[in-house]
Amino acid sequence: MTSNINQYDVAIVGFGLIGQICAKVCSRYNLRTLVIESRSDAEFTSNAISFDDESLRLLEGIGLYNAVKVFLNKPDFTDIVLTNGRVIQRNPVLNTDNGFPSICTFFQPEIEKIIREICMADKNIDLLFDNEPINFITNDNKVRLDTKSGNKLNHFEALYLLACDGINSFVRRKLDIETVDERYSKNWLLVDILLKDNNRLENVFRQICDDTRPTSYISLSNKRHRFEFQLLAGEQHQKVIKKNNIQNLISKWIQHDHYEIENVSIQNFRGSYAKTFQKDNIFLIGDSAYQMPPYASQGLNTGIRDILNLIWKINLVVHSNCNKNLLLSYSLERTEQIKQTIKSSIALGQLIDSLSMAFQKNMPLEESIAPEARDQAFGRKNSIEEKDSIKGIFSHSQNELIINRRLSNKEITNNENDGCLDKLVGNCFAIFSSKDIKNKLNDGVYEKLVNLNFKFIHDYAGFSLGSELSEYLEIGEIIIRPDKKIYGLSSRTIDINQLALELLSQIE
Ligand SMILES: Cc1cc2nc3c(=O)[nH]c(=O)nc-3n(C[C@H](O)[C@H](O)[C@H](O)COP(=O)(O)OP(=O)(O)OC[C@H]3O[C@@H](n4cnc5c(N)ncnc54)[C@H](O)[C@@H]3O)c2cc1C
Repeated sequence: MTSNINQYDVAIVGFGLIGQICAKVCSRYNLRTLVIESRSDAEFTSNAISFDDESLRLLEGIGLYNAVKVFLNKPDFTDIVLTNGRVIQRNPVLNTDNGFPSICTFFQPEIEKIIREICMADKNIDLLFDNEPINFITNDNKVRLDTKSGNKLNHFEALYLLACDGINSFVRRKLDIETVDERYSKNWLLVDILLKDNNRLENVFRQICDDTRPTSYISLSNKRHRFEFQLLAGEQHQKVIKKNNIQNLISKWIQHDHYEIENVSIQNFRGSYAKTFQKDNIFLIGDSAYQMPPYASQGLNTGIRDILNLIWKINLVVHSNCNKNLLLSYSLERTEQIKQTIKSSIALGQLIDSLSMAFQKNMPLEESIAPEARDQAFGRKNSIEEKDSIKGIFSHSQNELIINRRLSNKEITNNENDGCLDKLVGNCFAIFSSKDIKNKLNDGVYEKLVNLNFKFIHDYAGFSLGSELSEYLEIGEIIIRPDKKIYGLSSRTIDINQLALELLSQIE
């Protein structure tokens, strides 16, 4: 891309996994995208180790899944065990209704490398490494961005600035956005190893409530494995990261001459979130907006949900002239879910600590943690709290149990039982109905929906419908958003014209 180099629809600061996936989603919507990354193109991070099925579904939707799947590993199961091997909880890793395993592990540098190459070849994306912002201002509905690469200054303009610059986000700090600290802080030692020769370890994702120090062991592929060890009070970082200490910690699994160490770091696991994820035309995404301890493996997955929530809205404003106020729904729709995910992640860490302690003191496990804390840790409380957060771009005249649900890809399947909903809908709004509704829609409404690229889906020949979609179709027509969340369902009390008009009033 050579023409008009300084003008973009979107500028992304930070090219970690969230910046990379975000750039690719922007490109899918034909948004001219600039990425500014402070690292060189030879540097990679190794923190995240897994995607869930919803994230894999998004990767497939933007054409990345096939490229990364060779680097994905499906563990046999995830579990939480005690020092003596007693299993507290064990879940086999199965394919969900989205058609992907509930969890897939990976070695982050391998995934980053391939996504970077794909972004570099993308004509909608301009990618600048060794470059960082020094200033930005919002003016005339645009963000002017000044960056520095060595001694060279560059100037860019973009309609929107997306901060994907991680925990110490320059953008968040410059905007002076306050953060809420959930007062959780634990240091952990992370070690990635590569097995030599034909040595093998178990293919599992395991949290160990070790009575001497809580530990995680995760298989990333048949050759690569992650160990995480909680640091104990007073332990000195320089001593902990010494090679012989690491070899000693890992010796329970494998002897030291059977592997090499690829990465070692000490990370602080915290819980915090920014009070807002938007200021004018600037948005915080992923770790720049919040931090959560990784016990529930949700930081990256949550950032991917942010992308899924925000970019279709930016697309509507940029390409369909929709009302900019619809972007206010990003912070509104995401905040409560993120707070709950942080709480659950912290609760899971506390549960692991409590179980370790109970085992050490020979206490009954049931006494070591309150049932409500256990529910929070396993995410069982979320559904109740989520109801309060349904404000954004949803029909407000609807049953809260229906709206805000994401339809699974397998709600429509072909003869081979493959999920097809995502392919049929693409990146647009869609109306599912049991017959053609063109004549049912008022002329003006129909035209507006066509201009917004709505898909009208009513012919299901050659497909099978899932129970959820079939049930809704018996009641009326369903509008789903580009992120496949249900906007609303028409019924005897609200017809499809009223429902469509309600949506148009929110986005036009
Ligand atoms: C031990 C551990 C295990 C984890 N496991 C999982 C898991 O299994 N599943 C999961 O979902 N999540 C997991 N997470 C969380 C996950 O790693 C993060 O949420 C995710 O990687 C955040 O990605 P990001 O792109 O937002 O931030 P980062 O990866 O931090 O990327 C930020 C990027 O911005 C760049 N940058 C920073 N400042 C500037 C600047 N001023 N100018 C330009 N560029 C800049 C950085 O160089 C970097 O490339 C784990 C985290 C840890 C610590």
